[in-house]
Amino acid sequence: MSDNKKRILTGDRPTGKLHLGHYVGSLKNRVRLQDKYECFFIIADLHTLTTRPEKSAIEAITENAREMVLDYLAVGIDPERSTIYLQSAVPEIYELNLLFEMLVSVPRLQRLPSLKDMARNADLTEMPFGLLGYPVLQTGDILLPRAHLVPVGKDNEAHVELTREIARRFNYLYGEVFPVPDVLVGDVPTLVGTDGAAKMSKSLNNAIMLSDDPSTVAKKVRGMYTDPNRVRADVPGTVEGNPVFVYHDIFNPNTAEVDDLKARYRAGTVGDVEVKDRLAEALNVFLDPIREERRGYAEQTGLVDEVIYNGTLRMREEARATLSEVRKAMGLGGVWNGIRRKAEKVARKRDRSTDGAG
Ligand code: ATP
Ligand code: MG
Repeated sequence: MSDNKKRILTGDRPTGKLHLGHYVGSLKNRVRLQDKYECFFIIADLHTLTTRPEKSAIEAITENAREMVLDYLAVGIDPERSTIYLQSAVPEIYELNLLFEMLVSVPRLQRLPSLKDMARNADLTEMPFGLLGYPVLQTGDILLPRAHLVPVGKDNEAHVELTREIARRFNYLYGEVFPVPDVLVGDVPTLVGTDGAAKMSKSLNNAIMLSDDPSTVAKKVRGMYTDPNRVRADVPGTVEGNPVFVYHDIFNPNTAEVDDLKARYRAGTVGDVEVKDRLAEALNVFLDPIREERRGYAEQTGLVDEVIYNGTLRMREEARATLSEVRKAMGLGGVWNGIRRKAEKVARKRDRSTDGAG
């Protein structure tokens, strides 16, 4: 695994199963690039604490992580080639996070709109210190394996920009340790949710999961937001920005069918039900092989635990190597070594003189 390939770091918070937004925003790029790059995929459980620090949320992490890794495997991430690891089990991330906190200002973090959105979505009235520091911790995640590329959705683009700033600042102050990583946003930078109001998100109840069964998919599609002005099938409707057509454009490979549905929708000669039924069919065709793969992996008892365990051990090696470079570059180790050497010397001298006295 340790050849001279460039590296990828990306991942997800283990807050539930993954959805179509994750697929188009990031997973698709991960699968596509896993040969070209050496990949590290993080189960970012410490990030769940930024909005959900309570014990019950922590207890849910194990099962969520297993489900999430099943989703990874189901879409084609190969643990033989890629390292999938648990963030909280790599001690060096806590240390790197603290060191990076010194290289960024509070106003710089306060300007990031994503954090305010996260606080609002989690019903937090005040910004937790840790949530403000989310992109700093994320910087630690990205730079711990010294990644060059970060495939994420649009909402994370600004965080990678901050990572670039911190990497540059570190390198400027202490010498070249970190690559300045590039961001790679998916073909669909932000997939809208079934509610048509916000980005598809695990926590907003507007998501179609990669593991949803066909009837659940059909049910969610039937409940999707469409053109609200269209009270009857013979009223001409709007296609642009209509989430049902947004999904058709992304997930229905039958472009002739999609063009025909759009034309009839605009003319008021097709009902929402037909448009939605065609979409549910297309989504189920897309999801069938993913569900099939997922079932196969889920049947193998302990498989995902082994994947996470081995990946975490592998990541720990990487993290130790990076932190050793970091401490050397910063000279922090030198402070301790100076103190230690002096203390040991004094102790030796005292021992010798007491030996002589005895
Ligand atoms: P939560 O509700 O717990 O915040 P989430 O659904 O927003 O979950 P994250 O774990 O925050 O998912 O995001 C993981 C990755 O997936 C990130 O790279 C993010 O940019 C991407 N992503 C998430 N939702 C979407 C979406 N709707 N469209 C495109 N990319 C997305
Ligand atoms: Mg999110």
